[in-house]
Amino acid sequence: MSIDYCRIATPGIQGLRPYQPGKPMSELHRELGIDDIIKLASNENPLGPSPRAVEAMQAALPQLHRYPDAGGYALKARLADLHGVARDMITLGNGSNDVLDLIARCFLAEGRGAIYSRHAFAVYPLVTQACGAVHQMTEPLPADHPHMPYGHDLAAMRARIDARTRVIFIANPNNPTGTWLRSAELEAFLAEVPADVMVVVDEAYTEYVQEDDYPDALQWLDRFPNLIVTRTFSKIYGIAGARAGYAVSGAAVADLLNRVRQPFNMNLLAQEGALAALEDRDYVTRSVAVNQAGLAQIRAGLDRLGLRSIPTVANFVTFEVGEKAMAAYQGLLHEGVIVRPVAGDGLPRHLRVSIGLEEENRRFLQALPRVMESL
Ligand SMILES: *Cc1c(COP(=O)(O)O)cnc(C)c1O
Repeated sequence: MSIDYCRIATPGIQGLRPYQPGKPMSELHRELGIDDIIKLASNENPLGPSPRAVEAMQAALPQLHRYPDAGGYALKARLADLHGVARDMITLGNGSNDVLDLIARCFLAEGRGAIYSRHAFAVYPLVTQACGAVHQMTEPLPADHPHMPYGHDLAAMRARIDARTRVIFIANPNNPTGTWLRSAELEAFLAEVPADVMVVVDEAYTEYVQEDDYPDALQWLDRFPNLIVTRTFSKIYGIAGARAGYAVSGAAVADLLNRVRQPFNMNLLAQEGALAALEDRDYVTRSVAVNQAGLAQIRAGLDRLGLRSIPTVANFVTFEVGEKAMAAYQGLLHEGVIVRPVAGDGLPRHLRVSIGLEEENRRFLQALPRVMESL
């Protein structure tokens, strides 16, 4: 007798669809035999990894027979110093995705709910579903909103809170839209949320943002004990492949997260690389400069092509192609340019392109009209 193992899995897992990552360059090479490939699909740092991080990881290789420091003492101490918080307020993760999962496992379960916006980071519904919790998705601001089309609608999120709600996920700036929340509106929102509802402010792209009234949510940790801020080394620090991220929260919440955390979840190389990357200020400065120039280049190029883009302050631009978005994505693949379809995020008419080096951006902007004409 054969068993349908899906029916044995928990109800949350039965309905789960796996995360769709950007297409790896090696996969496109296998499929189409193309050698000259550029990947602008996963918001990675186009400068390559922080050189200091690479050096530190190489230096750590002879220690690989040892387990990493389960408490992450050195990295937590450095982060605590950097952010002006206590060490016991930090939770290390195997990427910040890991931390999002820890949050869900601590606070979500059947009968509980999580609020997040449509077109928000795909991991929020995923971890919510895995815990069997209720999806309390809200609609974003309308596409014709004068300031922030597709942005998070905080009033709608506030109104959605009910007795089941235990977690609210907010990405600032958001991926895949690039939209952001200003200081005053986010602060007012935090003040309105009941203290027994956790608010996760995911700041994966924070180091890229150059807007004046863009907030650093860490400043509010003292006032709001239900606030959890997440950060990552995958974006501006350029070590996405190493998997390093963390949460900063009140110590009581960090204690809970650390109860479910696997002791060695941040590996030895990731800890060493992250520590070194934090000191690589020159690399961070260059990364911001390359991104600002690239954002201007891509936006201007899309404007010239008459393609509307969603406002962004991150290291990617999501732009409207129309009905043929998926065909345009496929056409770009044949040109050796990997971008990201965002249909799975509820944006079937859009594509997302990560900011690359100047020549990569140019190649994308030259390939795009060729592809669109051929459709
Ligand atoms: C890229 C990204 C992250 C980072 O995930 P890691 O697991 O740290 O690589 C987190 N949140 C958002 C919104 C992102 O886009």
